Amino acid sequence: MVAPHPSEPRRSVSLREYTTWKVGGAAAWFAEPAHQDELIAHAAWAAASGLPFRCIGAGSNLLIADSGLEGLTLCNRRLQGSRLDAAEGWVEAEAGEPIPTLARKAARSGLHGLAWAVGIPGTVGGAVVMNAGAQGGCTAEWLVSVRVLDPRRPEVPFDLDAGDLAFAYRHSRLQEEPLLVLSARFRLEPGHDPQVLTARTSANLHSRTSTQPYQQPSCGSVFRNPEPLKAGQLIESLGLKGLSVGDAQVSPIHANFIVNTGAATAADIDALIRLVQQRVLESRGVRLHPEVKRLGF
Ligand SMILES: Cc1cc2nc3c(=O)[nH]c(=O)nc-3n(C[C@H](O)[C@H](O)[C@H](O)COP(=O)(O)OP(=O)(O)OC[C@H]3O[C@@H](n4cnc5c(N)ncnc54)[C@H](O)[C@@H]3O)c2cc1C
Repeated sequence: MVAPHPSEPRRSVSLREYTTWKVGGAAAWFAEPAHQDELIAHAAWAAASGLPFRCIGAGSNLLIADSGLEGLTLCNRRLQGSRLDAAEGWVEAEAGEPIPTLARKAARSGLHGLAWAVGIPGTVGGAVVMNAGAQGGCTAEWLVSVRVLDPRRPEVPFDLDAGDLAFAYRHSRLQEEPLLVLSARFRLEPGHDPQVLTARTSANLHSRTSTQPYQQPSCGSVFRNPEPLKAGQLIESLGLKGLSVGDAQVSPIHANFIVNTGAATAADIDALIRLVQQRVLESRGVRLHPEVKRLGF
């Protein structure tokens, strides 16, 4: 029997390996398009079949329910590639391009602006939707425009300016609207020394991997910082490092990370998120809001 091509929709595919937490049930339908026109065709098929429909990137900010997801889930991680103009200072990337790959390419070409992104294990599409940021930089600062697809009218992709995306801290309008990001265009600063930028990019990565539990399955920071406070400091101050539900554990290395120490389920992680929220609210009067997106709950 010939195995179905990953670009074609397949039935009942476990999403565990498509999230960095390594939890989650099956997608009723699942495909990994390698080209934009495949993605557009799948979106049209889902719309015509009346199936609910969503896109995921690297699954590095997702908690997918153990019961799985209805309808069609498209994973963009094969939708890679980028074009860059080192003299003019712009770069355009497909939605599935890993944002650290883009950061390194930009640095090698002497383009300043994306060094903060090197430790974020997501895709360009996910970074736009989440307004991902780190070490003083964020997506909104450098993005010029995105090409998007409305699943209700999948035949006609269109462009949106960054100014129309209602960017705020870890937020964009794309979190509320069912638009799919196909590609993104960034304006960067040309003319920098590639060696200096590459060294800075590597130093950024090192400073993160030495202070965060990068070796264990996680989704990075679970809670948004209740500014001016830091969620991790609040949680640590209550002695909650190491608190566990099943195999879900508040990381002993960084209190705003929940790690999967072995066979955690999405229900374990969800219960631990709620337990931490409850303890912080009771003891400090602060309501913590998850940064991670829950799907299927
Ligand atoms: C170890 C670790 C460290 C991290 N550090 C940081 C950090 O420093 N800063 C930070 O901001 N984040 C951090 N994160 C979280 C995460 O990497 C970012 O939020 C990232 O931008 C998510 O990208 P993704 O491709 O994994 O998106 P996913 O997790 O796959 O999806 C996130 C959301 O975006 C939607 N989405 C994804 N792609 C598309 C698309 N093409 N079109 C429409 N919707 C889409 C999904 O439906 C979902 O709602 C970290 C995660 C880990 C595991």
